[in-house]
Order: sequence, then structure tokens, then C-alpha cells
Amino acid sequence: MIDLRESARNALKACGVEDAALTGGLTVRTPLTGAELASVRESTDVDAAVAAAHAAYQQWRTVPAPVRGALVKRLGQLIDEHKDDLATLVTLEAGKIRSEALGEVQEMIDICDFAVGLSRQLYGRTMPSERPGHRLMETWHPLGVVGVISAFNFPVAVWSWNTAVALVCGDAVVWKPSEKTPLTALACSALLDRAIAEAAAPADLHRVVIGGREVGEALVDSPLVPLVSATGSTRMGREVGPRVAARFGRTLLELGGNNAAVVTPSADLDLATRAIVFAAAGTAGQRCTTLRRLIVHASVADELVGKLTTAYAKLPIGSPLDSGTLVGPLVDRAAFDAMAAALDQARADGGEVLVGGGRREVDGDGYYAEPAVVRMPSQTDIVRTETFAPILYVLTYETLDEAIALHNDVPQGLSSGIFTRDQQEAERFLAADGSDCGIVNVNIGTSGAEIGGAFGGEKETGGGRESGSDAWRAYMRRATNTVNASGQLLLAQDVSFL
Ligand code: NAD
Repeated sequence: MIDLRESARNALKACGVEDAALTGGLTVRTPLTGAELASVRESTDVDAAVAAAHAAYQQWRTVPAPVRGALVKRLGQLIDEHKDDLATLVTLEAGKIRSEALGEVQEMIDICDFAVGLSRQLYGRTMPSERPGHRLMETWHPLGVVGVISAFNFPVAVWSWNTAVALVCGDAVVWKPSEKTPLTALACSALLDRAIAEAAAPADLHRVVIGGREVGEALVDSPLVPLVSATGSTRMGREVGPRVAARFGRTLLELGGNNAAVVTPSADLDLATRAIVFAAAGTAGQRCTTLRRLIVHASVADELVGKLTTAYAKLPIGSPLDSGTLVGPLVDRAAFDAMAAALDQARADGGEVLVGGGRREVDGDGYYAEPAVVRMPSQTDIVRTETFAPILYVLTYETLDEAIALHNDVPQGLSSGIFTRDQQEAERFLAADGSDCGIVNVNIGTSGAEIGGAFGGEKETGGGRESGSDAWRAYMRRATNTVNASGQLLLAQDVSFL
């Protein structure tokens, strides 16, 4: 029997976390058994951390971007060297199965690669000036300290999406990880500290502050934090957004999703089944992009539901340390209670739980839920709510217009998919009057995005975009420059004055 505390301690030590960081008042529990993994010290002076990071930023902003890229390159190498250690911590703290934990760490390596390339591509534009002998252009400058607030379910990837990009953009970062996953944060921070020391970059370029909501609030309210990138529930975003806006700061919000897939009569149902089971039951339903609603054409609904319930009944649920397991634990008892309450409400609304919904006794106080498929008569309030657990609601439709209307009739707008072999249907779903989400897929599930694209969603998902494409612009400020080399003063729009 593997000693989970020992395993966590070894992984932390390998990443360079000192024992002194592992004494304090915040108890860290593992969702695998509910037992204590470690205790860590909570941060008491967020303002001091921000001030130190701000001072580091003032040096870092003048370092050429490709040189900043070299730091991120080293960070990527160190993460690669410690891939196993980080994945172990992700499994122990967030409960992910091994391949998903390794996948999350791979995302960190990928975004570092991306950011290194980006460090030579922070392009501004030049525009033709209306005045002879003038040049009109834009320059992108570093922004300042980026406050990163992250959720428990992607304890390392979300940090790396923000931090790798922010660092090449010339910013400093202060990170407030979830209070449920501070160990992974300490490990990442130790690796970055090492890369910073080796690159002779300013030591306070990155600081981690540990604690709950109050620690996050101090970041949110700090005037030295021009951008708060916050990932978590819509409830959290509703509090954070207006507070940052009140001081004219910027937010990048990555909030809850209530993702759906439409399955049309022409779909390859075997391919769809595999994609749906991974998207809906994978990560025990604890991804922001987890598939929560299935909108199936009435003519194929029974066949598809049959395939799904068969697959669900065979899902290996158990310890994520066992190699055969595909569904690990929920993060804690509150998550299981929320799932049970949602299922009760669905039943009260006329829904039928076709499979799953119970608790499996696996180990100690771990909350292992059986992923559930629930056939619903209509899209009731509980279906329109994000329950962060493996519940898949099934609805049926007759026309594609009806399917798209159902699809979009939820407050959230993160990820979506359509399963079809009909190009017209696929194009309709991708079009302006199709899915209203930030991520719109064809013949692939809603979860498991690649880092090359911009990640995020609309409506109550918050509107932020992180990771690839041009998401870097959120981490910089733009200056528009007009340079007069004509030797005369020519006013725009032919205005004459003096
Ligand atoms: P949560 O909202 O409970 O906590 C997220 C983080 O916000 C934590 O670090 C928490 O301490 C902090 N926080 C909470 N209230 C705060 C406040 N008022 N001010 C400052 N900080 C505050 O979320 P969770 O349970 O950790 O994660 C699950 C949620 O996150 C789900 O809703 C999921 O969809 C969402 N999520 C979204 C994305 C995305 O990219 N859209 C990614 C991962 C998770």
C-alpha cells in the first residue's frame, strides 16, 4: 500500500520545495481517501508579495522579449524533467487518473514552447498615415503584475497558460492557487524559482500566495495588479469582476461551463459514444469543458442512449493510482452532495436516471461517484445549472433549429460540439447563428482543448481568452504612436490652428 503523504513529500522535495513550506495551518487533503496529505503555511501579507513582484516587473519589462523567452524555455525543460513528480501531485491533490495528470503536465510543457516562440512574435501593426512624412504604428508593452487565481480542477495547467505567456510579455505574476491544491502550486513555484535563478532574472518575478478567498480578494483589490486572470466558478467571477472593474483594472475571467453536444441522425454513433463518454465521465465530470448536456435527434436517441448506458455500466471507477481506472474520485464530500441533490431535482422534474448516481466505497473517506446519464423531458433549471460532477442530461430534438435553440438556451457559453456527417449541419453549427460558445467542435467532444487555440467562453463563462492564438494581447498594453518626420506640423483631418 503506497503511503500517500510520503509520496507527496517525495514529489515536492524532488521539485525543490523546502520542508519549511510544509508546516502551517492549512490542511491539504487528498480526494483519494480524504486523509491529510500535508499542511501548509497561509500567506499573511499579499500586499508585500505584490509590491515585490511589481519591483521585479520594473526590471523585467526592459529585458528584450526573446531573452525573456529563454527563461520560459528553461521552465519548460524543468517541468519536463519533473513531469512524473508534478503528475503525482496532480493525482494526489486533484484526484486525476495518471494519463490525465500526465496530460495536464504536458499542456504546461506545450504552452512553454508556444510562449518561447511568441517571445519573437509580439507583433504590432503599422498603418498608413494620412499625413505625408508621418508614421502611424502600435507598440505592445508589458502590463505589470498579473494576478492569477486558479481552480482546483486544473491545478497546474491554468497557472502555466497564464504564467508562461505573462513572463514573455514582460509581466510579473502573483499566483493564488485553489486552497484545495496548494502543493502542486508550491512545486511549480519552486521549479520557476530555479529557472529564474539560473537565468539571473529578478527573484520576485513570481510569487505564490496560499490561502482561501480572502487571499484572492487582496489580489483583486490591489492597485498594483492591472490584470486579474481568474479561473473558477461563475459565483467567484461575479464577485471578482465588478471589484476589479471598480478600480479600472482588467479581468480575464474563465468561469463555469454547461457544455452540450448535438448528435444528428447522420452521426457515426460509435465515434460519438466514445467521444461522449470521455467528455462526460472523464476527470469524474470535473472539467470546465465537461459534457453536461446531450441533445440527440429523436430518431437515434434510443440507440445512442443504449450504447452510452452500456459503456457507463462498464466504466472502471476507483483509485486513480490503479492503472485500469478511468474514473477517479470527486474532490470532496460537498461535490458528491451537490451531485446527489442535482439528481434528486432532475427526478423531481420528471427525469429518469438511466445509469449511475451512486457512491462507490473505494478507500476511506474518498467520494467516488458513479457517472450518471439522465433522460430529461425538457431543459429544466437544473439542466441549465453547472453541477461540477459527472451527470449527463439527455434531451431530444426534431429539427436542427430546435437543437441549436436548446443548445444556446443556458447562461453559460464555454464549449460545444456537433456529431454529424452532413456538412451543411456542421457548417450551420459553426456559423454566426449556430453555437454561441467560445469553443465549437465538430465530431469531437467538448473537453480536451489544445493549447494552440484561444481558450475561453461567452456569457457567464466570463468572456476571457487564454493560452494560444492572440490571447497574449490581454497581458500587454498597447500604445499607438504617430511619428512626424516631415519637418512640418500637419494636423490630422486637415485642421488648421496657429
Ligand atoms: P471556485 O470558484 O470555488 O474557486 C476558484 C478560485 O477562486 C479559488 O482559488 C478560490 O479560492 C478563489 N476565490 C473564490 N472566491 C473568491 C473571491 N470572492 N475573490 C477572490 N478569489 C476567490 O472554483 P473551484 O471549485 O475551485 O473550481 C470549479 C469551477 O471552476 C467550476 O465552475 C469550473 O467550471 C470552473 N473552471 C473554469 C475553467 C475555465 O477555463 N473556464 C477552468 C477550470 C475550472
